[in-house]
Amino acid sequence: MHIESFSFEVPIAQADKINIYLVVDKDSGNTAIDAGFCSPHHIKEVLELRPRRILLTHHHIDHVGAAFSGIESYLHPLEEPFLKLYISDLFADIYKAWTERFGIPKHFIHQFMEMFSELRGFGERIGGKMNLKYVGDLQEISGMLCIHTPGHSPGHCCYYLPEEKVLFSGDLILSETTTHVGFYPGYEANPLASHLQSLKKVLGLEVDVAYPAHENVIKNPERRIEQLLNHYESRINEVLELTESEGNLVDIASRIRWNGKSFEKLNQWDKLLALSETLACLKYLEGKGYVRSVLNDVNDVVRFERVR
Ligand SMILES: [Zn+2]
Ligand SMILES: [Zn+2]
Repeated sequence: MHIESFSFEVPIAQADKINIYLVVDKDSGNTAIDAGFCSPHHIKEVLELRPRRILLTHHHIDHVGAAFSGIESYLHPLEEPFLKLYISDLFADIYKAWTERFGIPKHFIHQFMEMFSELRGFGERIGGKMNLKYVGDLQEISGMLCIHTPGHSPGHCCYYLPEEKVLFSGDLILSETTTHVGFYPGYEANPLASHLQSLKKVLGLEVDVAYPAHENVIKNPERRIEQLLNHYESRINEVLELTESEGNLVDIASRIRWNGKSFEKLNQWDKLLALSETLACLKYLEGKGYVRSVLNDVNDVVRFERVR
C-alpha cells in the first residue's frame, strides 16, 4: 500500500487548490480521498486515477466532483441534504432569510448568490448521477477507519490508517490557515463546539502525518492541533469581550481583527465568512450561558448581549 498526492486548481476565485489522495492497494483497489471540484475537467482528472471507490470528507463543491460520475462514493449521511445545494434554489432562499434575521446588508451576500448560480450551472452539466453509500464513525472501508469530525460541516469525516499512523484530515486541519467554522443556516447546531471536540478527538489518535485537503502535508499534526485550539480559545475570548457592549452580528464582527485586518478592509466574500464565523463564536458562548440573543421587536433583527 502506498499514498499518491495530486493537487488541482479550483476554478472559482474564492477557493484554494484542492488535494486529492490516492491510496494504492493491490488487493482492494485504489481509493481516492475526495473527488475534486464539480467540473467536467476535475471529474476527468480524478477518474484517470482509476479509483475503485471514493471516500468523501464532506459535501463542499471542491470535494465531491467525481462522485457525480456514478463511481462508488462514501459520505456521512448528515452531508447528503447539502448536495442539493448544487441543483436547487433552496439554499439561496435559506441564506436570504438568514441575512435578514441577523441584519446583514443585502450587498454582503451578492457575491455569494452569484456563486450559487454558477454552482447550479455545474450541477446541470454534470447531471447528478451518484452511487452514494453512507459511512459513519469508526466504520472501516478497505483498511481505512472513518472518524466523524463535525464542525466545518455537520458530517465532516477524516479517514485514518492506524498502522501507518496516517490521517486524511479533509478540511478539519489545514497546515497554514484555520478552516472555516461558521454558522450553517438550516443547521441548528453549535458548529464551533463540534469543531473543538473533533480536534480533540483527533488529538487522541496516534498520527505521524496528516494529509489535508488544501495546503501542505502536516508532519507534526499534534503541534498544529494545539495551535488551532489556542487560536479558537483567543477568538472566543475576544468575541466575549466584544459583547460587553450590546450589538448585532455585524457590529460585533466589525470590531474583530481578522488576521490583523479590520473588517472594513476585507473583501465581500471574506466579510460573509467573518460574519458566519462570528455567529459560530456567539452560538458557542450562548451554549456556555455567557451570551444571549434577543430579537428586536422593531426591526426583527437578532442582537447579542452579555449575561450578567
Ligand atoms: Zn470544506
Ligand atoms: Zn475544502
